[in-house]
Amino acid sequence: TPTVTIVGRPNVGKSTLFNRLVGKKLALVDDRPGVTRDRREGNARLGDLEFRIVDTAGLEEATEESLLGRMRAQTEAAIEDADVILFVIDARVGILPADRPFAEMVRRSGKPVILIANKAEGGAGLSGAYEAFSLGLGDPIPFSAEHGEGLADLFEALMPFFPEPDEENEEDEDDPSKPLQVAIVGRPNAGKSTLINRMVGEERLLTGPEAGITRDSISLDWSWRGRPVKLFDTAGLRKRARVEDKLEKLSVADALRAVQFAEVVIVLLDATIPFEKQDLSIVDLVEQEGRALVIGLNKWDLVADQQGLLKDLKEKATRLLPQVRGAPVVPVSGLAGNGIDPLMKAVFEVYKTWNTRISTARLNQWLGEAIEANPPPAVSGRRIKIRYMTQVKARPPHFAIFGNQLDALPKSYTRYLVNGLREAFSLPGTPIRVSLRTGQ
Ligand code: GDP
Repeated sequence: TPTVTIVGRPNVGKSTLFNRLVGKKLALVDDRPGVTRDRREGNARLGDLEFRIVDTAGLEEATEESLLGRMRAQTEAAIEDADVILFVIDARVGILPADRPFAEMVRRSGKPVILIANKAEGGAGLSGAYEAFSLGLGDPIPFSAEHGEGLADLFEALMPFFPEPDEENEEDEDDPSKPLQVAIVGRPNAGKSTLINRMVGEERLLTGPEAGITRDSISLDWSWRGRPVKLFDTAGLRKRARVEDKLEKLSVADALRAVQFAEVVIVLLDATIPFEKQDLSIVDLVEQEGRALVIGLNKWDLVADQQGLLKDLKEKATRLLPQVRGAPVVPVSGLAGNGIDPLMKAVFEVYKTWNTRISTARLNQWLGEAIEANPPPAVSGRRIKIRYMTQVKARPPHFAIFGNQLDALPKSYTRYLVNGLREAFSLPGTPIRVSLRTGQ
């Protein structure tokens, strides 16, 4: 569960907000004399969102100068732990000099922040809310902790930091006792049936020298190093020139079906004629369907200069397939039975990558650095501002980026972020999705 931390100068209503979210008068019970708790924590609930909430109000009573420094140190530590910060100001009083050091700490942390203009019940203190823009922490939510106003807006602002309960994905969570669904797709004659025969160890599939001899999509249960695997074979994608249109469509539909069943897709190329146009469209299909990807270079036994070709094909893959940068490229020979272990190792690796979840804190730390290294451009006078990001889904990793004017963000910049994410969190072999959301 995410940690949400309340930050702000004394008297803005942090404890009241804490109580409101925890739903009990928990923050007030500790009245033993001499006990100064640096922070309070509770389990909070807002709508169907559950989170850990931290209140940094503990040292408010500490008026002495010497304690002010300690209060700031504690706030700093609490910010460090936070996934999201609720920065509270008093909308009636407006921004005071005392707000600024706290705002500065929050800004420096690079953590996502939701600005709360408290004590704004019944529309009071709107001018204070507008002043709040000057803190540079985004648009304030008019709020009243005491009267429970603004909770819906707060809910909406918090929602992105919680993984969407995605039913389909929940069922399929990474469970090693469940068979890993692997599809092997590729052009006719790439050697799919031969490879699958070799894996399963039975001549269950018919192979032959003529193109397109396997007609139907089939699945086979197998296990690799004790892990159950379900293999999907396909009729392959037939060459347009040779086959009439109807048949062509049918086989693409077959491949698509196998890809949709699969978690990981092995795109099998014939290493002696690699990266033909059809191969590239198959990879595109896998990317569009959001599946993890391994590229198998089959018929490796026919290759004379294996080292040279591998280097060459890895470079080609990077250049021709930027959308799946870093996908593993593994030589294999279905006929000779070589390379199946490295191939399957790569399959399980990309599967893990495909399931990756990255904490909001780590993401935003990275995002801050990425933006600093290369800020988003101003596009025809529009100031694009990226505020924060969060992962909304896995399988494949899907991120939401929040900010202002993001509709003007150039595609090249999104690509910069995606490539950076791949690099920083090692996400090769999986599609990465990014949604841009303006107006938090
Ligand atoms: P599919 O259409 O992708 O299922 O391809 P097949 O498995 O039917 O293989 C097509 C042809 O390629 C057959 O003649 C196979 O014997 C041959 N073949 C498959 N894999 C290999 C391999 O690793 N090395 C060599 N030399 N030939 C292979």
